[in-house]
Amino acid sequence: MQVRDLIGERLRENLKSSLSELHELVARSLGDYGQRYTTNRRLLVEILAAATKPLGISEITVSGLGSDRNLPVSSTYRNLAILEECGVLRKLAGPNEQVRYELSEELTGIHHHHLVCYGCGRVDDFSLGYKLEKAIGDAVRAISHEYNFQVTEHRVDFVGRCIVCVG
Ligand SMILES: [Zn+2]
Ligand SMILES: [Zn+2]
Repeated sequence: MQVRDLIGERLRENLKSSLSELHELVARSLGDYGQRYTTNRRLLVEILAAATKPLGISEITVSGLGSDRNLPVSSTYRNLAILEECGVLRKLAGPNEQVRYELSEELTGIHHHHLVCYGCGRVDDFSLGYKLEKAIGDAVRAISHEYNFQVTEHRVDFVGRCIVCVG
């Protein structure tokens, strides 16, 4: 099993036991912004909670087809933007300006990074591991000191070509 699958597994295990807890947190986040947690927004959160990697809009709407509810594309765009504004989702700029979404790390509690393929456009989650995260932590402290800037999080994506595209 690959690293990214392990992250997906952990995330799904975490969320399976606490899907109602997740919905509570999301409802609270939306409430803080005066937004309602509608049926379609709940469905979007559930689709992204079940995903093993960040999803594009078309993947999200296709995932919605299997359910008894449907996700109109126009309102899906708006709902995803609102969920992002409320800190529920994180938006990733993928290759070719294709946008992808995932649950925010604040919600999942699972810090991770991304491998972004410019060949086929896939984006995979992966974890750097303790040693490398610690090295980044050291760099963050040095940067905070040197630039007098309070760093609250880091976002590091690695861009290149996946094994399929390298051929
Ligand atoms: Zn690729
Ligand atoms: Zn990190």
